[in-house]
Amino acid sequence: MQPLRICLVASEVTPFAKSGGLADVVAALARHLHAAGHEVMLVMPRYGRMAGLEFGEGPTGIVLELGEARFQAAVRTTPLPGSDLLVRCIEAPDLFGGEALYYGDEGDAFRFAALTRAAFECCQREGFAPDVIHCHDWHTALAPLYLRRVYAWDRLFAGTRTLLTIHNLAYQGRFPADLVERLGLGAERDLFHQDHLAEGYVSFLETGILHATALSTVSRTYAREIQESEQGRGLDGLLRARADHLFGICNGVDIDWNPRTDIHLPAHYDVDDLSGKRECKRALLERVGLSTENLEIPVIGCVSRLTPQKGFDLVPDSLPVLLQREELRFILLGSGEERYESYFHWLSHDAFPSKARFWRGYDEPLSHLIEAGSDLFLMPSLFEPCGLNQMYSQLYGTPPVVRRTGGLADTVEAADGQGRGTGIVFDEYSSHALLATLEFALYLYGRPDEFRGIQERGMRRDFSWQGRAAEYVDLYRRLPSL
Ligand code: ADP
Repeated sequence: MQPLRICLVASEVTPFAKSGGLADVVAALARHLHAAGHEVMLVMPRYGRMAGLEFGEGPTGIVLELGEARFQAAVRTTPLPGSDLLVRCIEAPDLFGGEALYYGDEGDAFRFAALTRAAFECCQREGFAPDVIHCHDWHTALAPLYLRRVYAWDRLFAGTRTLLTIHNLAYQGRFPADLVERLGLGAERDLFHQDHLAEGYVSFLETGILHATALSTVSRTYAREIQESEQGRGLDGLLRARADHLFGICNGVDIDWNPRTDIHLPAHYDVDDLSGKRECKRALLERVGLSTENLEIPVIGCVSRLTPQKGFDLVPDSLPVLLQREELRFILLGSGEERYESYFHWLSHDAFPSKARFWRGYDEPLSHLIEAGSDLFLMPSLFEPCGLNQMYSQLYGTPPVVRRTGGLADTVEAADGQGRGTGIVFDEYSSHALLATLEFALYLYGRPDEFRGIQERGMRRDFSWQGRAAEYVDLYRRLPSL
């Protein structure tokens, strides 16, 4: 079959700029599409934090006009690690010169609307006629609108369709309604949600949902959940109206997450020989300053943004009960909301200094060591579009303890204590349910044959990107008929 021409545009791409799963997904998808022979144009900002990289030259002298504002931009290129695909990084110091990815203010609207326009400009400068422009989350969700109006005159885009992937509906890019004019989109006012303009706001994500040829989200269950009011965050009606054009494609696991080859681990292992995992456990305990005297004591690990989404409100009435009662270790790596950070600081410094550790910050090597060196992985999310860590932990022989929601429901099979399952799963969002589930997990850990079975089944699962990328290609090919 003919290879496709795909323009991917996103605010984050691993390893250059990452705040969450979005960056991993975009990088892995681009790499696999390129490897499969498709022509890929991957466009992202060149953030201030990327100053240390070596770049090649791309088109220069680009002017990005947004209403009254004009931004000078140039394209710099750098290979995507693990691939010879050249990433197009938009250099525009007035927009992306700072260290942060997001500032959480109106400036972000200009920055990412400019990025979205820059993707079209890259295509034009390079004569790249995309079959698909694949945009991601609110940041680049204006792409369908730009295609429909601002770039509609250009025959280059005559055959172009758009796919908007929603990685997390919680972030919608809402701004005051007058921003439409200030972005220079006054003539396109009719394409925004009229009721919401009247209410005084505009939402980038909503606009993308209205105009993209098709929509996808990162698991089948989440695709269903966001059509209901509980998780739809005000967009459920619109998503229901577009249900025939909304698809769920689960994320995959990239090549750097493999316990046989992981460069961050002191010892390697696989499903036939877990001895290296024990070494990782020792190294993890040493690294965080916990005793290595008895390696049989179970370690529960966790790596996460500290936000309500991740289920941390269930912890204060469950985990301390267990830490009090059991020989158990708990290691958390993450950062986020102050109230969670101070709680976990208290838990590890004051309440259980010999049993719990809270490592505040972002630390890629430590995140790998926690996946490998823990016995169980905690992920009690309130909602979870897909989630990556529960897949990593299954592959690393570290059964995840998860709530049955979104991608967690789709990727973890519940252990029943009778030779089935790959993780420990609960339904009700309550501390009581989490406590009972952690107790069950520890009970299973205490039955070596049963636990080993859970580990093995998890380690044998296939979460590879090849299959996922092929699902995206199928969807890209269907776009013209949608
Ligand atoms: P989300 O995108 O909602 O944060 P995901 O599970 O989809 O959640 O992806 C999170 C990714 O970010 C994973 O690769 C995870 O290991 C990584 N991550 C999150 N917090 C940290 C941290 N503090 N240090 C290192 N990696 C982290």
